[in-house]
Amino acid sequence: MVFANHYTNTTQMKRKMAKSHFFDRSETLENLTPFYDSTTGTGFFNLKQQENAFSDKESRHLLESFSSCLDLQQLLQKYYAELKARVSVNHLAIDTPVGHYRAGQTNAGQSEKSMIAEYDDEPAIQIRHFYNNTLSIRAQQIIRELHKILRIPLRNAIAFTQLQQVAMKDPLTSLGNRTMYNDTLSKLCRQSQRTGEDLTLLVLDLDKFKPVNDFYGHNEGDKVLVAFSEELSRSLRASDYAFRFGGDEFCCIIQGDKSVANNKIVPRLLHAIRNNVILKKHDITCSVGLAELEANDTPESLFLRADEALYSAKRQGRDCIVHA
Ligand code: GH3
Ligand code: MG
Repeated sequence: MVFANHYTNTTQMKRKMAKSHFFDRSETLENLTPFYDSTTGTGFFNLKQQENAFSDKESRHLLESFSSCLDLQQLLQKYYAELKARVSVNHLAIDTPVGHYRAGQTNAGQSEKSMIAEYDDEPAIQIRHFYNNTLSIRAQQIIRELHKILRIPLRNAIAFTQLQQVAMKDPLTSLGNRTMYNDTLSKLCRQSQRTGEDLTLLVLDLDKFKPVNDFYGHNEGDKVLVAFSEELSRSLRASDYAFRFGGDEFCCIIQGDKSVANNKIVPRLLHAIRNNVILKKHDITCSVGLAELEANDTPESLFLRADEALYSAKRQGRDCIVHA
């Protein structure tokens, strides 16, 4: 009788798993022979535990809650909060084509349970669950079912983030575009004014770029813009930001020690420009305006000062940096 019941149950489970597209690679065998669980009262696996961990009403509610969230970090936080309320998982890690996201305490868990959300037409996404103590079979079932509810909302949030990233990127140089510049500068200005950390804005414009277009064509002009943006990115540190503001004008946001922009980044960039094959070929140099964030600045007032400094640099003969 027990065998008959168990057989029916595992067959149903197999079918259900195949249908769900969810595949926990580390656990397939265990799922099919779950007889003993040291964490249950009697020490023996109770078949009732194979019943769904969530009622239909609860599943619908969770699905609605996850679906209402298109921000990937917030979605992961929501998933983590729901998990944490039921299971002793203390850290989650998810790697997607649009970025890496984390929730809970980093490095807190010693063991890892990996779940994979598979989609017909998109790459599979892995969510790693970290925990310290052994997970009971019931806990594993809760993770499986909650993960299953997350599957479609997760795909939607990834698709939304992909669209957002495309909308924020300059297609020619792959640097952030003006929209991204506006968003980032506003956020970092607020942050720096709150913490008192230095923030420097650089506005850069290529010198005598127009003749490249006029004499060699627009394609060659595009190559110059790409070469410049590559040198610009290479001259910055990982924590700095570069954007194409429009045409041959670029912006950089540099947080931390205000001497770094003037003493390190700009000299490094001007040196790199002089040594770049394509920029050298066209005698390209660049002029730079620099402004430091003040307590009463807005992103616009900061930009205006850096832009005025840039035009002073142009008036002073180009290929130089001017401080606001
Ligand atoms: P200055 O030294 O005063 O900065 O002069 P400039 O010759 O660099 O000219 P300016 O900055 O006023 O003009 C920038 C030019 O960049 C004008 C425009 O035709 C060209 N441009 C804008 N966007 C693109 C683009 O995407 N590709 C190419 N090839 N050219 C572009
Ligand atoms: Mg120019």
